[in-house]
Amino acid sequence: MGPGPANAHPRILAAQTLPLLGHMHPPFLSIMDEIRQGLRYLFQTSSNYTLLASGTGHAGMEMAIANLVEPGDTVVVGNKGIWGARVADMAERFGANVVELKVAAGKTFSLAELTAAVEQHKPALLFLTQGESSTGVRQSLAGVGEVCRKHGALLLVDTVASLGGVPLLADAWAVDAVYTGSQKCLSAPPGAAPLMLNERALQKVKNRKTKVRSYYFDLNLVGDYWGWFGSRSYHHTGMVSMWYAMREALAVLSEEGLEASWARHEAAHQQLWAGLRELGLEPFVEDPRDRLATVPAGVDWAALCKHAMDAYGVEVSGGLGPTAGKVWRVGLMGYNAKPANVELVLVAFRTGLAKQGYKPA
Ligand code: PMP
Repeated sequence: MGPGPANAHPRILAAQTLPLLGHMHPPFLSIMDEIRQGLRYLFQTSSNYTLLASGTGHAGMEMAIANLVEPGDTVVVGNKGIWGARVADMAERFGANVVELKVAAGKTFSLAELTAAVEQHKPALLFLTQGESSTGVRQSLAGVGEVCRKHGALLLVDTVASLGGVPLLADAWAVDAVYTGSQKCLSAPPGAAPLMLNERALQKVKNRKTKVRSYYFDLNLVGDYWGWFGSRSYHHTGMVSMWYAMREALAVLSEEGLEASWARHEAAHQQLWAGLRELGLEPFVEDPRDRLATVPAGVDWAALCKHAMDAYGVEVSGGLGPTAGKVWRVGLMGYNAKPANVELVLVAFRTGLAKQGYKPA
């Protein structure tokens, strides 16, 4: 019940134990096609350009940056925690002229701030994290895609900690490129990074003046393995068992339905906050519309985490980056977002706080 990996769904774990197929064999290529289809639903896009990057969330991040950024491009990075800072570092490594937009930990960017930055810097790319797992905020994307389109910028969004848990409608919101991870709201083990580009983003890759500086992540090559361009050629060995898991994860999600999944995550979130408030704890993120699920402390946070693990086998985490030492981070993601688990977290907090003699104000 920390910031991830969340527990995996038993069906997804079982899928991983199936015998291996060859990574270029027709039955396996069909599985890859089904995954692309499932990803279209997950991202809410009709784009043909979906695939799994081989690796964790960082692989999706690095694949997006390596392909969408050319040396000399201006990239505006919304930095409201650790993920923006990493993307800024990454974009710089790929030769971008990086402009970092910063906001205090626990806050989000307003549309006006983002619009002003795009108008002023005329970037090739704007990067935002939807679910900033280091501070627990959810960045609203309303209107941002339109602004980017008007000024010729691409919009890239990190949804590693949010996709499947809160709405993201790539086409309707004019988001050009998105990546996520397998191990959070999608209830799979870590090891696959779903990624999508729309036609605008693909054109940027196709019209590059320079070669993509990473061979492993070059979408001209990886995309060809995934059948983006009509043919299929070997680029690297597909992560066969991991992709069985992702096919199953997308099936599980489709059976539940995105709207039902969002509602389940929202209900778990409300249940947690109702319980935490009874214990006298206050949210770090002030605006409830911006809130994922994060907890501040007036007590020894590490002792409480240890108590939760020792007494209940429940993982909750401390802060990360700008929130280190200031908050607890509780994840309510995927298979874990259910009432009994939330109750277990609350029991761990109740008893852990009592053990430290903490009394609600
Ligand atoms: N972005 C966000 C918002 C994340 O929460 C994480 C993982 N905590 C990542 C990127 C990186 O993902 P991974 O650790 O799977 O590489």
